[in-house]
Amino acid sequence: MKTSSLGSSSRALSSLPRCRTCRPGFFRPLQRQKRSFQRDSKQAVPDFAFAFDIDGVLVRSAKPIPHASTTLQFLQRNSIPFILLTNGGGKHESERVKDLSEKLSLSLDTSMFVQSHTPFAELVHGEKGLRNKCIMVVGGEGGKCREVAEKYGFTNVVTPGDIYAAHPEISPFSRPFKESYYGTFARPLPKPINASSPEDSLKIDAVFVYNDPRDWGLDLQVIMDVMLSHQGIMGTYSSKNGDPSLPNSGYLQDGQPPLYFSNPDLLWAADYHLSRLGQGGFRAAVEGVWQALTSSKNHPTPELYKEIIGKPYKLTYEFAEKQLLRHRDELFHEKAPPLRKVYMVGDNPESDIRGANSYESPHKVEWVSLLTRTGVYQDRPGQRPNWEPRAIVDDVKAAVQYALKDSNWHESLD
Ligand SMILES: [Mg+2]
Repeated sequence: MKTSSLGSSSRALSSLPRCRTCRPGFFRPLQRQKRSFQRDSKQAVPDFAFAFDIDGVLVRSAKPIPHASTTLQFLQRNSIPFILLTNGGGKHESERVKDLSEKLSLSLDTSMFVQSHTPFAELVHGEKGLRNKCIMVVGGEGGKCREVAEKYGFTNVVTPGDIYAAHPEISPFSRPFKESYYGTFARPLPKPINASSPEDSLKIDAVFVYNDPRDWGLDLQVIMDVMLSHQGIMGTYSSKNGDPSLPNSGYLQDGQPPLYFSNPDLLWAADYHLSRLGQGGFRAAVEGVWQALTSSKNHPTPELYKEIIGKPYKLTYEFAEKQLLRHRDELFHEKAPPLRKVYMVGDNPESDIRGANSYESPHKVEWVSLLTRTGVYQDRPGQRPNWEPRAIVDDVKAAVQYALKDSNWHESLD
């Protein structure tokens, strides 16, 4: 499996099983909650829709951004469809929807909510599905991401914390901190790490980085252990590593499991006045340590094969567009004209704007990028964002006002 590049769909995820109960080509939806709002049948039907980023657009450090709530309420009143497309995660969609609904005083629906790890749910299903395989889930607060994975349908989920609790010698530093933290959620391993009997040892079939790791040191160490192992068996080291006669200098040629990252954002807007390192920072650390561990003058530097999902990657936009089309069909039935435009409203040029600008819709939908000043992006004299949006606007309300005018919608948002 090779690294996905922006604009090319990943091999594993692009061959995901489709839902048998849905129309062809549709992904299986997450189980949905009640409909978010009802439509008056006399209302006009828009040929446009919105995708909103959350952090830095609708909320910042859990506090609503001014006008976010009234703007989304306006869209709901006018039956203008939208989805929430975030690189955030760490909680199940139903929990995030509940949180955000309360913060913004809105009724939202899980089917309108795409987090960076939401497409992982698709890997449960199908002939090569991972439902009963042993997967390792990395990141997030306590055992929350394990719970998310289990709600997606994975039945055999371990965390680096479980491994640490069973084998604390795997990461020798900060033991009091680790023991108090992992003691709150670690579970017994399905199998121990047994160096003298690999066939009886814990075997990892896939590694997923769901959310920001809270313990970079342990998580990085365990990921390296898995990627350097024989067939993902913990406690082993592949004899093929470093063999210059093999592809990739022998690395990742011995049945090691796939490695999936969600949320590529290097930076995100938090309470501190400067942006903070995000999951993309952890991925850079993994890649840096991989390179340091595997480089040699005897062979070319081997690649760390991985799959990355989340904005700006194509698969995430594809998934979001399908959710939006389905949501639109439910709202308008057969009366809807084809969807013509989606306005992507975001605060991060590297993810929101880059992704929308690069995405080529199979349904010929035009994605229009609008950048707000309420999050990561800040105006600096003489500087332009690396990825140029259609417009830079003050906030989410101004973004919707721009879009309504651009699409000649009959009602304005004041
Ligand atoms: Mg954001």
